[in-house]
Amino acid sequence: MSTLETSSRNNITGVRTHQVENQPPPLVDYNVFEADQVMSEAVRREGAEWAVEKISTVGEIAGRRDVIELGRQANENPPKLRTHDRYGNRIDEIEFHPSWHELMRLGVGHELHSLPWRQPQPGAHVARAAAFMCFSQAEAGVGCPISMTYSVVPALRHQPELAEEWEPRILSDTYDPREIPAAEKEGSLFGMGMTEKQGGSDVRANTTIARPINGGGPGAEYEITGHKWFFSAPQCDAFLVLAQAEGGISCFLMPRRLPDGELNHFRLQRLKDKLGNRSNASSEIEFDGAWTRLVGEEGAGVRTIIEMVNHTRLDCSTGSATGMRAGIAQAINHASHRSTFGKLLIDQPLMQNVLADLAVESEAATIGSLRLARAYDEAIAGDDEAQAFKRIANAVLKYWICKRAPWHAVECLESLGGNGYVEESGMPRLYREAPLASIWEGSGNVQCLDVLRAMVKNPDSVQAFFAEVAEASGEPRLDSYVKDLRSDLTDMSGIEARARRLVERMALALQGSLLIRFGDEAVADAFVSSRLCGDWGQAFGTLPAGTDFGRIIERHSVEA
Ligand SMILES: Cc1cc2nc3c(=O)[nH]c(=O)nc-3n(C[C@H](O)[C@H](O)[C@H](O)COP(=O)(O)OP(=O)(O)OC[C@H]3O[C@@H](n4cnc5c(N)ncnc54)[C@H](O)[C@@H]3O)c2cc1C
Repeated sequence: MSTLETSSRNNITGVRTHQVENQPPPLVDYNVFEADQVMSEAVRREGAEWAVEKISTVGEIAGRRDVIELGRQANENPPKLRTHDRYGNRIDEIEFHPSWHELMRLGVGHELHSLPWRQPQPGAHVARAAAFMCFSQAEAGVGCPISMTYSVVPALRHQPELAEEWEPRILSDTYDPREIPAAEKEGSLFGMGMTEKQGGSDVRANTTIARPINGGGPGAEYEITGHKWFFSAPQCDAFLVLAQAEGGISCFLMPRRLPDGELNHFRLQRLKDKLGNRSNASSEIEFDGAWTRLVGEEGAGVRTIIEMVNHTRLDCSTGSATGMRAGIAQAINHASHRSTFGKLLIDQPLMQNVLADLAVESEAATIGSLRLARAYDEAIAGDDEAQAFKRIANAVLKYWICKRAPWHAVECLESLGGNGYVEESGMPRLYREAPLASIWEGSGNVQCLDVLRAMVKNPDSVQAFFAEVAEASGEPRLDSYVKDLRSDLTDMSGIEARARRLVERMALALQGSLLIRFGDEAVADAFVSSRLCGDWGQAFGTLPAGTDFGRIIERHSVEA
C-alpha cells in the first residue's frame, strides 16, 4: 500500500492534506455533578446530602452530548415574536425552536423551578441551587423563566388566595407551553416586570398606572396602563408587575390570558436583540388596561416583589459560579490534551498558573453560592441569625461573583487559543452570557448601595456576616485582613464612593474564610496569598510561584 493511500485512509475528513492531531476530545458524555469535587463536597456540607442522587441525575443530563447540542441549537435559533395571526388578530406569541421546549421540559421535569417548595426540608434550596448550577452548564437561557418561577412563590404568598390558586400550577413538574388559560394547563411559569424606560434600578420612577376596578385593596382587581422596557419570558402564564396605585407603588399579578381565555390587554412591541442569552426571549411590552390583581397592600410593591428579587439574586450568584465552572472545565480539558513546544499545556508552568488561578476563583464562587443557598434554607426555617447573614451576604456575593464572571470567561476562552474564539467551541456563548447576571436584579452599584443600606437598617446583618467570617479566625492572614476591613467600615466619610472597594473586600473575606474551612488546602492558600495578601497581579495567572498548581488543577479537572 502506498504512503499516499495510508494517509488518505487515516484522515477522517477523507481529504489527503493532513491528519487531525493535537486537538482535545470534546467534553461531552460525563456527569457534571460527579465530576465536580467542589460542588459535591459543598452539597453534602450545606445540608443537601439527601438530594445527591437527584442532583447527580441532573448532572448526567447536563453533560450529555445531545443535551449540550440542544443548548447550541436553542441559541443559534433564537425566539421570534409573532404579533399577529394571518387574519390580522393580535396574538403576541413567541415562537421557540423545539430545542428550547425540550430544555424547558427537562428543567421543569427535574423541579429546578420548584424543588424547595415541593419538598420543603433542610437543604432544599441548596439541592435546588446545585441542580440548577449543573443544568445551566448545558444552557443558561432557560434559567431565566425557571429562576423567576422558583422565586415568585414567597412573594405570591403575600396574597394567600392568589398563592392558593397559582401555587399548585407552579409546583407542577409538567412543562406546558400551550397557549391556553392557565387554569386549563398542567403547569405554569412566571415572569416579572419592573424596569421601565425612564428607570430600572430606581423603580420609584415607574409611571405605569394601576386603577382599581371594584374599589381595590389586597387581592382586588386593577387595570394597568403603561409599559415595561425589559420584560423577559413574556410567554409565561403570569407575571408580577409593579405599577403606581393611589397608595403608591404596588405589586400586581398579571395573567397572560384572562379567565375567559382571551389574551390580556397588552402588546409585545419587540424582542431585544441581546449580546448573549439569545435562546431566551426578552421583550418590550405595553399594557392597555391589562387585567391584574393586587398582591399585598397598595404602596407595598417593592416590599412584596423584593422577595422574588432576592431569590433571583441568589440565582445570579449561582449562575455566575456555573459559568466559571463550565469555563474552567473546558480550559483544563483543552490544556490536558494540547501540546505546544514539546509539552502538554497543562505541564507548562505559566499555563498552570492561569488554570490554577481560574480554578481558585471558580471554587470560591461555588463555595460562596452554596453557603448562601443554605442561609435561604435556614432563614425560611426561622433562624434569625441566618436571616441576618443572608440579608447582607446576598448582595455582597451577588456583586462580587457576578463581577468576576466576565473576566473569568475571557481568560478561559483564551486558554483554548484560537479555538476558544470560534463559536462552535461554546466559549463565545459563555463569554457573552457572563456580564448579564451582574446587570439583572440590581446592577453592581445597586448591590453595593444595598450593602450600605443593610449596614444602616439591619446592623445585625453586619454582625452575622463577621460572625461567619470569624469561623476561620486563627489564620493570621485572614485575621489581619478582617481587622483592616472592620476598621474601614467604621469610617463613614465618603462611604458611598468607596462602596465597591468595601464590598469587594467583604466578599473576599467571606470567600477566604469559607475556603480556609472547607476548600482544598492548596486552593485556600493560593486564595489567601493572592486575594487577601496582595501577592497577585491584575490578570489571572499571577499567583505566587510557590503555589501548588498541580494539586489545584487536579482537583478541578474533568475526565469525560
Ligand atoms: C437581558 C435582560 C433581561 C431583563 N429582563 C428583565 C425582566 O424580565 N424584568 C425586569 O423588570 N427587568 C429586566 N431587565 C432589566 C434589568 O433588571 C435592568 O436593566 C437593571 O436593573 C438596571 O436598570 P436600568 O437598565 O434601568 O439601568 P439604570 O438604573 O439606569 O442604571 C445604569 C447604571 O447606573 C448604576 N446606578 C443606578 N443607580 C445608581 C446610584 N444611585 N449610584 C450609582 N450607580 C447607580 C447601575 O448600577 C447601572 O450600572 C433585564 C435586563 C436585561 C439586560
